[in-house]
Amino acid sequence: MLQSELFTKTLRQAPKDEETTNAQLLVRAGFVNKLMAGVYSYLPLGFLTLKKIAQIVREEMDANGGQEILMPALHPAEIWKKTGAWDKVDVLFKIKSRTEKDYALGQSEEEVVMPLVMKYVDTYKDLPKSVYQIGWKYRDELRSKSGLLRGREFYMKDMYSFHENQQDFERYYEIVKQAYLKIFERIGLVAKVTEASGGAFSNKISYEFMVLTDAGEDNILYCDVCEFCVNLEIAKQKTGDKCPKCGNGKLNFAKASEVGNVFDLGQKYGQDFDLGFKDKDNKKQYPVMGCYGLGISRLMGVIVEKFHDDKGIIWPKSVSPVDLHLINIASDREASDKLYATLQEQKFSVLYDQRDASAGEKFADADLIGIPIRILMSDKTLKEDSVEIKARDSKESQIVNIKNLTKTLRA
Ligand code: ATP
Ligand code: MG
Repeated sequence: MLQSELFTKTLRQAPKDEETTNAQLLVRAGFVNKLMAGVYSYLPLGFLTLKKIAQIVREEMDANGGQEILMPALHPAEIWKKTGAWDKVDVLFKIKSRTEKDYALGQSEEEVVMPLVMKYVDTYKDLPKSVYQIGWKYRDELRSKSGLLRGREFYMKDMYSFHENQQDFERYYEIVKQAYLKIFERIGLVAKVTEASGGAFSNKISYEFMVLTDAGEDNILYCDVCEFCVNLEIAKQKTGDKCPKCGNGKLNFAKASEVGNVFDLGQKYGQDFDLGFKDKDNKKQYPVMGCYGLGISRLMGVIVEKFHDDKGIIWPKSVSPVDLHLINIASDREASDKLYATLQEQKFSVLYDQRDASAGEKFADADLIGIPIRILMSDKTLKEDSVEIKARDSKESQIVNIKNLTKTLRA
C-alpha cells in the first residue's frame, strides 16, 4: 500500500470534538472519521484493523462449533413486541415507514435467531446448535462521547446457542469463556471476568469480560491475589474489603470497559415464541438459550486506550493494519521500490512511505499510525546495503543487511 495513494491524511492536532484518547488518535491517524456522535466511517487503515480483530474472533468461534451467518438489521416490530422488548429496551431504534408500519433496527438479534434456528430443530437430536454473526448493531445510546467505546452504530460479534438443558448450556458456556480469553490474549489484552446481573429480563447471573482502562465506563472491584472480579453496580463488597473468594486478597477498584459478555437466557425466548423440541420421552421442551456478545469496534478503541504513547498508536502485531511500515528517505527511490516489491513477494503486508516529504514528517506520521515495525532506508544505510529496523514500542534500532532482512523479520 502506497502511503501517497491513501486518500486520507494525518492531522497534527487532535479534533476539538473528541474527548477520548482512542477517538483523538484514530481520527488524527486517519483510521476513522466521525459522521456524528457515536457513528464513524472506517477508513482504509481502520477498516483493515477492524477486519483483523473480526478475523481473530471468527477463528475462535469457528473452532468452537459456531456457524457463521448474517442476519438482517432491519426487523419487523412484531417480533420485538412478542418478547416485550419493544417497550422495555430503551436503546431500541424504532422506525416508522411511509406506510405507517413499525420496524426496529437490530440492537441484538435474539428475536430473529430464535425463530430462525428453531425452524430446523425438531427433536433433542438436533441440539445443541450454535450460530453467530459479525455485523453492525444500532442503539439509541444517550451519551456517546467515548469514541469507539460507545457507538450508536457499532460492530459486534453476537453468538447464540441452543441446548437441551441447563447442564449442556453450562458446558458450552465454559468453552466459550475459554475462547473469549484466547481472543483477548491473541490481541494482547488481559480481560477480567466479572459476575453481573442478567439485564432487563432475567435475574440470572451473567458474565462480563472487562479490560482495565480509565476510558472505560464500568466500575469494578478485583482481587489482587485471585481472579475474583465483580461489577461495582451490584456488588455486595466495597473497595478494600477482603476477597470473598480466596480470603487472602484485598479488593481494588478500577475503571474498566466491557468488551464481551455472556448471558444465560434460560427458556424465555422459546416460551415467548412458543417454539420447542421433542425430548427423549417425546415431550415438548423449550430450549435453553445462551447469548454471547463481543464488541469488535469497542475492542479497537480499547486497544488504542491501552497501547499508545504521546506520539501515537502502538498496534499489537496481531491487529496492526499491515505488518511493516517501509520508509524511504534516501535521495533515490530505486532501492526502496525494489525492497517494497520483495517484501510483498515474501507475503508481508507493507505500508510504503515514498512520499516527497521531510524525514521528520515521515517519522511523525509513522509514530502516529503505529505500525509495530518500521523499516528505514536512507542514503547512509544504503551505502552499506542495509536498512534500519525499529520496533514502534522501542527506542533501539538495528541495522540489518538487506540480504538478511526477511530472515530477521521472521525471527
Ligand atoms: P454496556 O453496558 O457497555 O452498554 P451492554 O451490556 O449493553 O454494554 P451487550 O448488550 O451485552 O452490552 O452487548 C455485547 C457487547 O457489545 C458488549 O460487551 C460491548 O463490548 C459491546 N457494546 C455494547 N454496547 C456498545 C456500544 N454502544 N458501542 C460499542 N460497543 C458496544
Ligand atoms: Mg448497553
